Amino acid sequence: MAGKKLNGTVIVTYRCNARCTMCNRYKAPSRPEEELSVETIKKLPEMYFTNVTGGEPFIRQDLKDIVRELYKKSDRIVISTNGFFTDRILELCREFPQIGIRISIEGLEQTNNEIRGLQDGFNRGYTTLKKLVEMGMKDVGFGMTVQDRNAADLVPLYLLSNQMQMEFATASLHNSFYFVEAKNIIHDRPMVAQNFENLINELLNSNSPKKWFRAYFNHGLINYIYGQRRLLPCDMSFDTFFIDPYGDVMPCNGTKDKEVMGNLNDQTWEELWSSPAAESVRRKVRCCDRNCWMIGSVSPAMRKYIWKPTWWVIRHKFLRFFKKKKYSMYELKIVRDYRDGKVTKEELDKLSTCDLNAVINDGLSEASKEQLAHKTGEEIVDADIRGQME
Ligand code: SF4
Ligand code: SF4
Repeated sequence: MAGKKLNGTVIVTYRCNARCTMCNRYKAPSRPEEELSVETIKKLPEMYFTNVTGGEPFIRQDLKDIVRELYKKSDRIVISTNGFFTDRILELCREFPQIGIRISIEGLEQTNNEIRGLQDGFNRGYTTLKKLVEMGMKDVGFGMTVQDRNAADLVPLYLLSNQMQMEFATASLHNSFYFVEAKNIIHDRPMVAQNFENLINELLNSNSPKKWFRAYFNHGLINYIYGQRRLLPCDMSFDTFFIDPYGDVMPCNGTKDKEVMGNLNDQTWEELWSSPAAESVRRKVRCCDRNCWMIGSVSPAMRKYIWKPTWWVIRHKFLRFFKKKKYSMYELKIVRDYRDGKVTKEELDKLSTCDLNAVINDGLSEASKEQLAHKTGEEIVDADIRGQME
């Protein structure tokens, strides 16, 4: 593929050692023998940005080999991790000091450990982050999935990240095959939105242009939790892609069922990207009504439709220069309508992707499913990690 660089997310494994309340991926691991090989990674196109994720990517002991190969084709790489494998993270960062690391921290200590289900998870994540900063790593930060249980910790965690001079990335609850979950939903929308509003005002009051654009992203999260149409078009699969541990290339991680454009183990990138299957997925994306608002699909859209967030930033940052409170969630009509009783909670719930009766497609291969006939995902991964430690 000549010319244009893409934005790619590489899901290196579906194995995970955490037990998050909002994601059941730990119950549906991939088999290590089937996971993306370095040979397949070599076939990926040129990228301006690559996110490496999982499951928990550091469960893979050959992650360094993957990253080394990815650096031959990507300008910037960020790894999303739950921060548990401190030594492996530090070792990888010694070889790749330019890499970005985002550690998921779901709140202050107690809340984080309850949501993530990792014993001592907060301290491990926090210690890893501190060690990375001490090593001189520049592109390091927190990632938080905001929900009813942790919304009150949003601003305190942001302030902590600021104190440590780190990035602070937010998300909210989504449902999809990737999360092996269909029941995620925000219950107390005004409370969660109020916490986002507080964060947005903190971000707008900072001196960092990057944070002003993050404020726009968080404004989009309020819009999302009220079930509204995305603030920006979704162009996933046009200049952005995800690849799963089996080599299947997909538009994104937000669809209910796995949508496959082709398989990179069996095809070349050029064949796959211009195949009829890829075109058919693009047609589906054009009329997708899931309205996700995750950084993976929003960041490329903010880049592409830059005038829209830029105008929002100008209006909030500069035209309200002397106002301390630059942003109010009531700028969104739906938030006013809910406050004024013009729309009910039940009506908003229906706009979400939460489906209590959904049959969940976990996107696993037949062989990965087969291993679950005899053991649970947790048993398989725990034994796997024990074996690695020995
Ligand atoms: S959210 Fe991430 S860390 Fe938590 S179970 Fe899912 S894959 Fe694992
Ligand atoms: S809105 Fe975009 S990111 Fe979300 S499921 Fe649809 S195509 Fe994927």
